[in-house]
Amino acid sequence: MAAEHRGATRLVPLEIGRLTMSLAEITGEFDTAISPVPAWVVEHPSGVIVFDTGMHPDLQHGTDRIAGVFDTSTIDYTPGEELAARLAAAGYRPEDVRIAVISHLHFDHAGGTAELPHARLIVQADEWSAGHHPRLVEAGIYNPDDFDIGHDVELVEGVHDVFGDGSVVCLPTPGHTKGHQALRVELPSGPVVLTSDCVYFGHMLDTMTVPVHAYDRDLQLDSMRMLASLRDDGCRLLFGHDLDQFRSLPPTGLV
Ligand SMILES: [Zn+2]
Repeated sequence: MAAEHRGATRLVPLEIGRLTMSLAEITGEFDTAISPVPAWVVEHPSGVIVFDTGMHPDLQHGTDRIAGVFDTSTIDYTPGEELAARLAAAGYRPEDVRIAVISHLHFDHAGGTAELPHARLIVQADEWSAGHHPRLVEAGIYNPDDFDIGHDVELVEGVHDVFGDGSVVCLPTPGHTKGHQALRVELPSGPVVLTSDCVYFGHMLDTMTVPVHAYDRDLQLDSMRMLASLRDDGCRLLFGHDLDQFRSLPPTGLV
């Protein structure tokens, strides 16, 4: 099956605004990094998938919905950069997106879910329960208004093969959050893994730098080691917020 799909699958990067992130809680450096907020289109013969949905459009006009824990980041996000607009500009209809795989439920990865009215969400069960934990919601780490808004939700546990043919596979990578997952996509040019926030920037994988603010640093290190071994086996890794890498990708997508 997978071979039949080769030649037809395409991976398109979409930039849903940017964050200026303080590195103090990430790499320990007293510096900031301009970081794209990615969403990804996986155009596949069985349908159009989105991996992560970016930020809620309300954040173009103020930061009330993320007051609190994410105050160490500043947001650069203008009208026309929200997921629906980015999809349309790339030639996709938001209402045609039938599946949204969400790496984790933070505001910059699940915030644009409302822009996909007909998508079924695929989320790790551990992440969905963390996203509703009263203490974490109260602290502002999760906002169920981003993601628990009436979509069909498929809760998965562990590795999940989205189409049953090995072409698009969820890979659990816990640590950044309790139920974080990456996505492996078989492109004609070879396998790619979207790491999301298991690895913010490529150099952190070279140095095995685990962010200070991880939910579980040991788990995240294990997940990073797993991704490093996939890389060593020839898999291309696309990182969560790596400006240089992201800007080097062809806007029309990888094939
Ligand atoms: Zn993030």
